Amino acid sequence: MSLSTYNKKRNFKKSAEPSGKIKKSVPGLLFVIQRHKASHLHYDFRLELGGVLKSWAVPKGPSLNPGDKRLAMMVEDHPYNYKNFEGVIAEGNYGAGIVEIWDKGSYTDLENSDKTTVEKKLKAALKTGSIKFILHGKKLKGEFALVKIKGRQENAWLLIKHKDEFAVHENYNSEEDTPKNSPINKWLAKNKTEKQQSKKISSSPKTKQVISEISSKKKVKKSISRVKAKNL
Ligand code: MN
Repeated sequence: MSLSTYNKKRNFKKSAEPSGKIKKSVPGLLFVIQRHKASHLHYDFRLELGGVLKSWAVPKGPSLNPGDKRLAMMVEDHPYNYKNFEGVIAEGNYGAGIVEIWDKGSYTDLENSDKTTVEKKLKAALKTGSIKFILHGKKLKGEFALVKIKGRQENAWLLIKHKDEFAVHENYNSEEDTPKNSPINKWLAKNKTEKQQSKKISSSPKTKQVISEISSKKKVKKSISRVKAKNL
């Protein structure tokens, strides 16, 4: 039965259900990078594989400079639908803080194989501790590799950009490639100003004046009491 029957039965202005649209076939598989302000700011790199998102936490964020080898700690698989998650994880929950999507797109293997072949190949490569892929993101493009560090912590990998036309030679900082008005940056800016303001208040000339007045009053009181004591 076609989706038109589904759509006819519903008013999407009144119902929160998704309208019936045929899923556009996306070439390759999906990748997403979520920037995550938890106890530490980091980036979560996720690749769709076998119906889940294989996930790595990248403390310094990805780089487009092939000279950078960015530590990527493999973490637990995330559900496929996590690809769209953005927002606040409430205090007291795992990963509490703010999540925003930093980059998103499709990926393939280096041979641009069909989806089934890519999944088969990458699943096997993942076990050997070395996978290579091409990202088609807005920020990250071209060839990348994830290589497991041997003899180190069980889950430590390196995320490396390969040399190609998308590689950069100058320093690359993913933080600078993030909009100033992103939810996390807004939060960081607000907290920074609040901290600065509280600093300013304690060191402003007016505060200093008040403090010195209070202490001079104390001095006066002290000297008065000293005089009184002498008079007694
Ligand atoms: Mn995270």
